[in-house]
Amino acid sequence: MSANNGQNAGMPAAALVATPKRTKEIIAKYGFSFKKSLGQNFLIDQNILHKIVEAAGLDETKGALEIGPGIGALTQHLAAQAAKVTAVEIDNRLIPILGDLFEGEPHVEVVHGDVLKLDLKQLFAEKFADVAKVSVVANLPYYVTTPILMKLLEEKLPLENIVVMIQKEVAERMAAKPGGKEYGSLSVAVQYYCVPEIVCAVPHTVFIPQPNVDSAVIKLALRDKPPVDVTDEDHYFRIVQASFVQRRKTLSNNLTAFVGKENRERLSELLNGLGIDPVRRGETLSLDEFAAISRAFLTEGWRG
Ligand code: SAM
Repeated sequence: MSANNGQNAGMPAAALVATPKRTKEIIAKYGFSFKKSLGQNFLIDQNILHKIVEAAGLDETKGALEIGPGIGALTQHLAAQAAKVTAVEIDNRLIPILGDLFEGEPHVEVVHGDVLKLDLKQLFAEKFADVAKVSVVANLPYYVTTPILMKLLEEKLPLENIVVMIQKEVAERMAAKPGGKEYGSLSVAVQYYCVPEIVCAVPHTVFIPQPNVDSAVIKLALRDKPPVDVTDEDHYFRIVQASFVQRRKTLSNNLTAFVGKENRERLSELLNGLGIDPVRRGETLSLDEFAAISRAFLTEGWRG
């Protein structure tokens, strides 16, 4: 712990990237210009950074994968806490800036690439073989938040948790419980793999440039195993998708498209048999109820 109680993650205040003054200096020094198309909104607030890193629970036995390090605001804090940091950045103009910042810190590695195109299993095998656990920690580019998170979850990477800054509405949808308008296929998918927890809401004033949307930090703690009994994951998720295709329609209407019109009556019988009223809407169903429907459909041979 540093002399300043860890407030600056063991770094002298003058070296911190995430202040308005320092960020502007770095941008000017390297002649950097922001690309909106890459979701470049850099953090300039140390308090938010502390909250993000604290939520990940890193220590000197653990590793961190950062997606989109920008000019290194969050990377610095990860480097001060974790045994190993690998940061994947798509924008080649940022690579030399990060190289200068982390010169002499061999436990920080910057990989130039698009996280959506990288073989993450291979990356993990190469970069994190020596650490006990790995977290993904990032201020994500908002234009690709969901594809990035779904890739991390669906590839079943050996992660302890994911702590990310994302658009507030998306965080709320991920953490939503059945019955509300935020609950949908994204909530089911995220909660199948993780236990979500919104860490804090974040005002748009803590970024340069300021985004047009509100943000939140969400922690996704990876489950050891799914919370429901599903025999065919792909089938389960196709049923979930089908149940939300037209949110205002009843479950029975949405699922008829999945099972075929000729099976409409049998579908109602089957749902009633499971204790699920066919006139309910998808947004009221729990993960468990979707699992029961998936198992029953498989027994009927309804694969969609
Ligand atoms: N971590 C920095 C911070 O908090 O100040 C920057 C965060 S900024 C919201 C998002 C970063 O992700 C940018 O540096 C952007 O260039 C990068 N990025 C965008 N799309 C990416 C992708 N597909 N793969 C890797 N990095 C990406």
